[in-house]
Amino acid sequence: MGCRSEATSVVTWVRRDRRRVWHGFTQMAAYEETRPVMVERAEGRELIDVEGRRYLDAISSLWVTTLGHRVPELDQALVDQVGKVAHSTLLGNGNTAVVELAEDLAPVVPVSDPRFLFASDGASAVEQALKIAFQYWWNLGEKSRSRYLVLGDAYHGDTVGSLSLGASGFGTDLFDPLRFPGVVRTPGYRHVGWRSAALEALEASSDSLAAVVIEPVVQGAAGMYVASPEDVRTFAEACQRAGVLVICDEVATGFGRTGRMFASELCGIAPDIMSIGKGLAGGYLPMSATVASAAVAAAFDGDDLGPRTFYHGHSFGGNALAAAVARRHLALFHDWDVLANVAARAAQLQELLGPLAGLDSVAEVRSCGLMAGIELAPPKPGLRWGRRVCAAAVEGGVLLRPLGDVVAVVPILTSTSSEIERIVAVLAESIERVCL
Ligand SMILES: *Cc1c(COP(=O)(O)O)cnc(C)c1O
Repeated sequence: MGCRSEATSVVTWVRRDRRRVWHGFTQMAAYEETRPVMVERAEGRELIDVEGRRYLDAISSLWVTTLGHRVPELDQALVDQVGKVAHSTLLGNGNTAVVELAEDLAPVVPVSDPRFLFASDGASAVEQALKIAFQYWWNLGEKSRSRYLVLGDAYHGDTVGSLSLGASGFGTDLFDPLRFPGVVRTPGYRHVGWRSAALEALEASSDSLAAVVIEPVVQGAAGMYVASPEDVRTFAEACQRAGVLVICDEVATGFGRTGRMFASELCGIAPDIMSIGKGLAGGYLPMSATVASAAVAAAFDGDDLGPRTFYHGHSFGGNALAAAVARRHLALFHDWDVLANVAARAAQLQELLGPLAGLDSVAEVRSCGLMAGIELAPPKPGLRWGRRVCAAAVEGGVLLRPLGDVVAVVPILTSTSSEIERIVAVLAESIERVCL
C-alpha cells in the first residue's frame, strides 16, 4: 500500500485510544495486542477503518444495527429533527417527536394498551421494569410480593439491578455481594427440563413474587440458547394465571431479530411489562423503553405529588433525535418488509451453518432468526478458541465477536444472500485455521 501517513494509521489511533478510552468488557492492558478494528466510517453493512479496510458487520455492532449503517432515510430523519429540537426533558413535560413515536409503536408491541417509559440503555429499561413491578404491588397494597423469578444463564444488563437478575459469569461473579436478595433462580433454556423446573419454582414461590423476568425464546448473551416458543408460552401463561407479572426482556430479541417483530409474538404471549432497546432506533442512537400494559400503569394513578407516582427518570429518556430516528425506522421496517428478508436469510444461515455442527471442533450450532451461536469444542481449557476464531475472521474482513467459546453470528437484518455466504465461509475458514 506504499507509505501511509502516520497520523491516520491504525497503530497510532489504537495507541491514542488505549491511552484515554476505557472500553467495556475489555482488558485495556492487552488492548493494543488484540488488534482492534478502528472504525472511521461505514457504508451499508460494512464498517471502514482508518486505513480504508472494510469489515462486514456480522454482529450488527453488538446486536443493535437493524437496517444497516448510513441508511439515507434514517440520516434524513435525524437531520430533520435537528432542525426542530435535539432534546427536551420528559420529566413533567412533553415532546412531539416522542408522542408520535409512542403512538406508532403502540399497535406494534405485544403489550395490551401500552404505555412507554423511555430511557437510553437496555439495562435501564430492565431496571425500570423491575421497579415498576415492585411498586405496582406496593400501590395495590400487596407488599409481600417483592421477589423476582428469573432463569439461569440470564443476561439483563450490567447495572446493579439488572445484574442482580442475571446469572454470574463473564467475570461478574465478584459483584455477587452487590446483587440484591429476593431473586429466585430456575434453570435456563440450555437445560432440557427447564420448563417443568420453572413451573415448580413458580408454584413454590408464587405468593411472594412481584414478577418473572425472561428473555423470550433466546437467551442471547448466555451463548444463544433457544427455547421452544410453546414452552415459553406455557410458563408465561402459568405465571399470569398465578397473578405474577410477566416481564419480557426483548432488548436483544426485539425488532425482527428472531423473525417476528418481537419474540413474544413467536410464543403468542402478551407480557405485562416489556423492555426494549438495542434495535429500537435502528442502532443509530441510544434509546430504550419500558413498555407497561394499561392495567399495570393504572395502578400508578393517584394524587399529584402523591406516593403512587413512579419516582424514576433518566436525563435523556425520550431524546427527540432518537425518537425521530426510531419512528422513521419503524416505518421503513414495514415499507421494506424487513421480516421477509429475515425469514429468507435466517433459513439460509441455518442451512449453511448446518455442516459446521459436524466438525470435531464444534460442539453445537444454535440459531433463531438472525441470532446464531456456534459453540466451539476446545479439547482443553485455556485455548481461547472463541477469541482466536473471531480474530481470524476479522482478518478475513468479517467482524465477529465471541461469547466465551461461542461465536455469535448476528447479521444485520437487511443482509444479502451473498453476505450471509461470505460470513459463513470466512467463519468456516477461521475455525479450520485455528482449531486444527
Ligand atoms: C444487551 C442486553 C441488555 C442490556 O442492554 P444495554 O443497552 O447494553 O444496557 C439487556 N437485556 C438483554 C437481553 C440484552 O441482550
